[in-house]
Amino acid sequence: MRRVLCLVLALLLFVGMGFSVFAEVPPKKIALTFDDGPHASYTAEILSILKEYGIKATFFVVGQNAEEHPSLVKQAAEEGHEIGNHTYSHPKLKEQNAESFSYELEKTRAVIEGITGVSPILFRPPEGFREGVIKTVAKEQGYQMVLWSVDTEDWRGLSADRIEKAIIKDVKDGSIILCHDYVAGQSHTPEALRRVIPKLLAEGYEFVTVSDLVRKR
Ligand SMILES: [Zn+2]
Repeated sequence: MRRVLCLVLALLLFVGMGFSVFAEVPPKKIALTFDDGPHASYTAEILSILKEYGIKATFFVVGQNAEEHPSLVKQAAEEGHEIGNHTYSHPKLKEQNAESFSYELEKTRAVIEGITGVSPILFRPPEGFREGVIKTVAKEQGYQMVLWSVDTEDWRGLSADRIEKAIIKDVKDGSIILCHDYVAGQSHTPEALRRVIPKLLAEGYEFVTVSDLVRKR
């Protein structure tokens, strides 16, 4: 009888420890990011998907597109998403000098601030180019430069299946996933998101803004 009691106690302790270990596991955090928008229909669709799942993302807007669709930028900010700077006209950064690049950043900052009332702190360089004056000027203007660790290449017009596979293949705790809410042709990004978000949520991933991801690390 005593042996049975000991066994039961040991079992309870073991189960209890299991629960406490489980409770202490921090959630795996990842950041979905969308470049080049806003786009009249794709951004609106992506915002509604994010809302449906109650998750946050970061939009690196192009200043001139933000000017064209201010209500989408406002909606994104109001719904808790982060807005970052992705230049005003998406120029080839290699060809920019300090003055022209400075203008690209400042004009976009003014546009974002005018719409949302918040000055952006993140900058994502088009094509990930961050050499020379780009690095210097972005730093001078107080930006945190953000690249990515998972590239969906969705701007190529890839199928939802390929975009989904690109994310699932490389995603891990701390991933910054590069997507586009502005694609010149047909975009399959919204469809891919509808498939991949529930899968990643089921795997215990939490979707946060880039600032949240960086801050908590
Ligand atoms: Zn871009």
